[in-house]
Amino acid sequence: MIGNAPDNIPIDLFRVLFEKSPGSLLIKTDAPRFTIVAASDAYLKTTLLPRDAVIGKGFFEIYQDDIDESTDIIARKIFSYVIRTGEKVDVPVYRFDIVEPGADRKTPHYWSFSNIPIMDDKQVAYILGTFTDITAEVKAKEAAQESEHRLLLAAEATGMAFWGLAVADNSLSHSPQLAEIFGHPPGTPITLDHVRAQVHPDDMENIVIKAYQQALVEGSYFYEVRIFWPDDSLHWIRTKGIVQFNKNKEPIRMLGTIVDVTESKRDEIRKNDFIAMASHELKTPLTSLKAYLQLMEIKLSGTSDPFVKTAVAKSGNQVNKMTALIHGFLDLSKIEPGKLKLVRTAFDINLLIEEVMTESRVLSNTHSLRFESSGELNINADRAKIGQVISNLINNAIKYSPRGSYVNLQCEADDDNVVVSVTDEGIGIKPKDQEKIFQRFYRAEEDQYKHISGFGIGLYLSSEIIQRHKGRLWVKSREGEGSTFYFSLPVG
Ligand code: ADP
Repeated sequence: MIGNAPDNIPIDLFRVLFEKSPGSLLIKTDAPRFTIVAASDAYLKTTLLPRDAVIGKGFFEIYQDDIDESTDIIARKIFSYVIRTGEKVDVPVYRFDIVEPGADRKTPHYWSFSNIPIMDDKQVAYILGTFTDITAEVKAKEAAQESEHRLLLAAEATGMAFWGLAVADNSLSHSPQLAEIFGHPPGTPITLDHVRAQVHPDDMENIVIKAYQQALVEGSYFYEVRIFWPDDSLHWIRTKGIVQFNKNKEPIRMLGTIVDVTESKRDEIRKNDFIAMASHELKTPLTSLKAYLQLMEIKLSGTSDPFVKTAVAKSGNQVNKMTALIHGFLDLSKIEPGKLKLVRTAFDINLLIEEVMTESRVLSNTHSLRFESSGELNINADRAKIGQVISNLINNAIKYSPRGSYVNLQCEADDDNVVVSVTDEGIGIKPKDQEKIFQRFYRAEEDQYKHISGFGIGLYLSSEIIQRHKGRLWVKSREGEGSTFYFSLPVG
């Protein structure tokens, strides 16, 4: 071919062009020798071979050290196939180790190469081998496979499963562990319908559907729910995921992990049952302690000893505080899914606010509570529980703001919702804490809070109660200036 360059290209120019082409080798089809007649600079550079060590040599003379018997056979087979059929043969990945510049021994290198027939009088006269160094790609792929393998091993060890959900057609892909988490034999394909049929119906309605809709807007997904295995046993799962959006910000896929948390849930339930039992047992002695203190107060009304009077009053206050805490614990233990039942009635929310304010004034008169009722406003909800939420917000407003300051309540309504707000002039809440204060046991870690007693359960309970009513509880606050807590409830 070199000797037969096309008429309009001088042979020297053709040689230069070939030598400057990327990784190429021109091999004469003089089997079994396969003489190399030309090699490009790029090829020689990557193989670190001088040109005169290559040109004129038989292909298998040069590579005999590197090609083992099987590759030798494969290479010969490829060459003879190209010669016989006149068709090009591509070898996508081929290992051929070379010594890199500055190194003292060979390192693994991977190449992809094509064997292109060059015809001369209807016969394949030459084979043009073009080589591309794909070591980096192969190593990246190996690394990716290795890390995927490690991830799968870690997932298997921790009992975690991976899942992916295509939003368009709800098709679910998952790692094999998902089947076991849902109580099926390993490897059983699990569909979204399986998952939905196994989730406890209450959790499906209250948690899963809401979390799904929220995730499509907010981009992240998290929940813990109860599922039934095919043998009817009850288990708990925790899933966490993210949503991938396309350029138009439309959700396309959800990806996440899922774990069985039955054991830790059972522990939690046992702990809750213990708290409930202990709180219940503590209630009785506290009630009689309170009754004795009230009796003492009456008996001591005539006494002139100021110490005894104050001591009895202070003891009464402490008993009240303890009673409130114990009630909080009791409520907390009832919050487990399925345990918090709503008893809905139609009532006037403005009237309820006034009642709760009156109770709060009796318990503490350190702040000025203000509320202007806009008249009768009926909603359908659990009156006692909504009262508990309002009371909790007022108590917090009092707890976290200076004596003598104002606590303002408001209630506004539109066609769909009522929104109740409680505003204080207190210490406020840092932005970083504003989301977290609704979590169970979360208290902002501030020196100024240290003397204020509490367990971080009031807001958690309140937000659970409001969520069960399909409403929302949120806060707006500025540190040092005060906070406003809002909750909304559907009017219907
Ligand atoms: P507790 O008051 O018993 O700690 P809560 O769940 O009622 O529990 O409140 C959680 C946390 O939220 C509090 O510890 C406090 O840090 C913060 N917080 C609640 N209400 C207010 C408020 N009105 N002003 C400032 N911080 C508040």
